[in-house]
Amino acid sequence: MKKISILGSTGSIGTQTLDVVRENRDKFEVVAISANSSVDLLLEQIKEFKPKYVAVYNENSAMRLKEMIPSDIKIEVLSGMEGLKTISSLDEIDVLLTAIVGMIGLVPTLCAIRKGITIALANKETLVTAGSLVMSEARKYNVDILPVDSEHSAIFQCLNGEKTREIEKLILTASGGPFRGKKEKELLNITKNEALKHPNWSMGRKISIDSSTLMNKGLEVIEAKWLFNVDQSQIDVVVHPQSIVHSMVQFIDSSVMAQMGCPDMKLPIQYALSYPDRIVNDFERLDFSKWSTLTFEKPDLETFPCLQLAYDCLKMEGTYSAVLNSANEELVNEFLEDKIGFYDIPYYIEKTLEAHSSISEPTLEEILEVDRWTREFVKKSIK
Ligand code: NAD
Ligand code: MG
Repeated sequence: MKKISILGSTGSIGTQTLDVVRENRDKFEVVAISANSSVDLLLEQIKEFKPKYVAVYNENSAMRLKEMIPSDIKIEVLSGMEGLKTISSLDEIDVLLTAIVGMIGLVPTLCAIRKGITIALANKETLVTAGSLVMSEARKYNVDILPVDSEHSAIFQCLNGEKTREIEKLILTASGGPFRGKKEKELLNITKNEALKHPNWSMGRKISIDSSTLMNKGLEVIEAKWLFNVDQSQIDVVVHPQSIVHSMVQFIDSSVMAQMGCPDMKLPIQYALSYPDRIVNDFERLDFSKWSTLTFEKPDLETFPCLQLAYDCLKMEGTYSAVLNSANEELVNEFLEDKIGFYDIPYYIEKTLEAHSSISEPTLEEILEVDRWTREFVKKSIK
């Protein structure tokens, strides 16, 4: 029985994680769940999965949840960052599934690593912000970081039994998002509702916007660098609109391995939880007669400058990726509130990167300070 704690149990990945647990009650037990403020859904999850702990980041929501929980249910209600840290470092858990959105997941993830707890990582912003620190702590405490992101799960599966020094290239596939094939002049006035409509995946709001700007792929390039310890020149992106090939690895002898399947996040979630085993399930099977044409094309870096910015940040090293991520988090929020336009996202990210003095091998404190500086700089710039 694997005991699981979930950071962000009410979101897209969090609820699909609980779907996987529901089908495998004999294998997984949920010990703790958490969310920012969605108390109604948390209460439902508490009734169904009977965790021992719940953490609600927002203090008022935590108080509301406490009042809502029926007296016959025994559960500890925690709040704030302390609550997230506690549920990430419980002695009794085997796996922390990080389905929280944003670099706010960094500190709790580090707490889990320092306790020797396996990380099933969906929260890519944490690795983009502090990849060097997180991976060196994971090595120090001998902790596995198992990818939940579908592309990285694909690469991880392609590398099963392979020697990583024989990798020539990682090839990340990208759906291209809702605006594939469009040019900048057609996208200048697009609205958030158009950007939120992803062709193949139904996801949280932030990652949906990131998919429409291709920043999601940029964050994934950085995530891949840290997870698989390759040079940025070894990471390619190819647009594959059908989202059937989830990513590929090219080896030094020219052989290419691909992992395929229907687009469904439950598979990479289940694999991260069941690793190194696989579990029988009734997920939809790939019907090759239906998918007679799979296509691949180059990403359009001119129309989608966010992907290029992410490559640039990887090359420049230091804290540039942290700035890229925090600026993007702020700007996506502003875009979702209709306060800025679509192309203001890359525009202000670039301005912020230009103003930043990078720190090499940053400590946690320095990274958190860079995050504060970035958010303030972005807010001042757009005023
Ligand atoms: P979402 O918006 O649907 O859910 C986010 C979750 O995080 C919610 O449970 C929310 O309550 C919680 N949360 C947000 N702020 C919090 C805070 N301050 N304290 C505690 N909890 C907080 O997002 P999502 O689509 O599930 O994405 C989650 C993460 O997984 C992101 O990093 C995303 O990039 C990654 N990811 C998602 C998908 C997908 O298909 N949705 C695929 C790959 C990777
Ligand atoms: Mg992905």
